[in-house]
Amino acid sequence: MDRHFGTVWRKAFCTFFLWAVLSGVCLATVKDFQPEMTPDKPSATARTSGKKSDDSEGRGRIPKEEPTIRVGLSEGQASAILTADDAYVVRDVLTGQGLDKFKGNTMTTITVQGRQLVINGKAISAKSVRFSIADPRTMRYLSVAGKKYHGNIVLTLAKDGTITVINEVKLDDYIGGVISEEMSPGWPMEALKAQAVAARTFAVYSLGLHNEDGYDVCATTHCQVYGGIASESPEGLRAVSSTRGEIMTYQGKPIYAAFHASSGGMTAGSEESGGIALPYLKPVRDPQDNATPNRNWQVSTSAKELSSDLSAAGFRVGTLKAIELTPLKVGEGSTDRYASGRLKEVRFIGTLQTVVVPGPKLRWIVGLPSTLADVRYGTGTKTARNGKIEISNQNTEIVFFGSGRGHGIGLSQWGAKAMAAKKKYRDILSHYYKDVEYSFLF
Ligand SMILES: [Zn+2]
Repeated sequence: MDRHFGTVWRKAFCTFFLWAVLSGVCLATVKDFQPEMTPDKPSATARTSGKKSDDSEGRGRIPKEEPTIRVGLSEGQASAILTADDAYVVRDVLTGQGLDKFKGNTMTTITVQGRQLVINGKAISAKSVRFSIADPRTMRYLSVAGKKYHGNIVLTLAKDGTITVINEVKLDDYIGGVISEEMSPGWPMEALKAQAVAARTFAVYSLGLHNEDGYDVCATTHCQVYGGIASESPEGLRAVSSTRGEIMTYQGKPIYAAFHASSGGMTAGSEESGGIALPYLKPVRDPQDNATPNRNWQVSTSAKELSSDLSAAGFRVGTLKAIELTPLKVGEGSTDRYASGRLKEVRFIGTLQTVVVPGPKLRWIVGLPSTLADVRYGTGTKTARNGKIEISNQNTEIVFFGSGRGHGIGLSQWGAKAMAAKKKYRDILSHYYKDVEYSFLF
């Protein structure tokens, strides 16, 4: 999510969606709205480095078992092809009964016929089957659709007669297949560790999100991007193993550990994307973020194009005559700006009517990298002075300009990268997530 704008875009979309769902936010159009198994054990330093750390849970507690997370790999499949690099078996999920066993490196094809799963041409009555390596002590893996995964693969017959493919995987093996999708493995270790803890916390917070689909989280930007073993990197795995089981909590519960590419100088409160205000997600100054490449951006359009885009999104203004928006001062709220300065709403005055467009929505309509933004008309001095731009020519350039990338809530990845030069991962996390504690799940 940090490397490509397109990815950032999808991530933010998805994070908002998740946020809206989890916080019970009712939005008319939610569509608008997104970590090798090195043998080293977590060191004492790693477990006590944070100022706000609470080691009471980490020390002397009875280790709990590492949870398994169900990751939805794909849905709507007419068939699935599995293999493994060692002998593997298939069981009925419901009864646990063994259905068949296969030699290593042999291919198994699963299809559907007449509302029944069919394994290598043989129809079975089970509606959900679990494939696993026959001897779990071996470090061998199943592959589905050509990709290798830790843990088991469950195939379920969905209501619509298609196959849902699910990976049952230990939480930290899952985070190992997430972290390098979310942050470049070339980044400093303390930033990677911060990302690992954020991703793990995010995963625990999201458990059960996709219960209706038969799994916990999906493998796309909607939840977190997960690519199985192929997505692992030695650095990412080191970050995961050196923070093994660690999550952030607030009042004893896992937090909504949102993260984004770049804050643009100040993070957003959780309410700034339409969710509820959370005490640990308040706007914070983020001066380190200024090293972000392409941090400052601009997006050009014209009155004609803008009114057309607004109409397409359901905001019919007719011919656009004026735009009202308080000029941006980072860290200053106003009637139409949130406390961080991000867009709360923008008024567009047209010949048909005046429409008030929520900032996060405008972001998707116009294609802004973030809502820490301002607008100007033409060149030179025609900025939104006194909060109003009068539009005389429909073809003159209207420029949205701002800084940062993503929704701005929680950890800024570029900010974390810069902070990692001097700070430990817990100090980085405690900068972005206020008054959180650190606990070990296992
Ligand atoms: Zn999802």
